[in-house]
Amino acid sequence: MAKGKITAQCKHCGEYFTIERTFYNRYEADNWEKCYENYYDCCSKCYKEQKRKKEEEAAAKITKECGYNLPELEGSAKQVAWANKIRADFIKNENWAIKIVKRWNEETKKKKMVDIKKNLEVSWKCRVAEMALKIETEESAAWWIDHRNYL
Ligand SMILES: [Zn+2]
Repeated sequence: MAKGKITAQCKHCGEYFTIERTFYNRYEADNWEKCYENYYDCCSKCYKEQKRKKEEEAAAKITKECGYNLPELEGSAKQVAWANKIRADFIKNENWAIKIVKRWNEETKKKKMVDIKKNLEVSWKCRVAEMALKIETEESAAWWIDHRNYL
């Protein structure tokens, strides 16, 4: 085993950072160091920051152009940014209503409740209608965050 180590400077913040990899032997480690010497130019902190910025911009674009009349979300800055992304991802999928119906069907099949289909139909219609209303009325960032796994 041999350790390869590259020190590089971040083009965004100017900080020096180190990348380490483990190789089978010195030859491979040296080779990697030589090949990738100038490859890394962004530290992990700035990489995360860039990624976050891109996600925020994408969410803002969807929020603006989606055709829904979306309320401003309330919460801490961090919550709002996260909830905006969750909401944008949700409405970006034009088939969200179908997704809800499908999930509803799967859930009920599991519960062996197919024989009371009519009641269920009403239920999923309610669920879709409820969600359509939520999109345009829910102002709590925490609500989107809490329900992110059920959307
Ligand atoms: Zn940096």
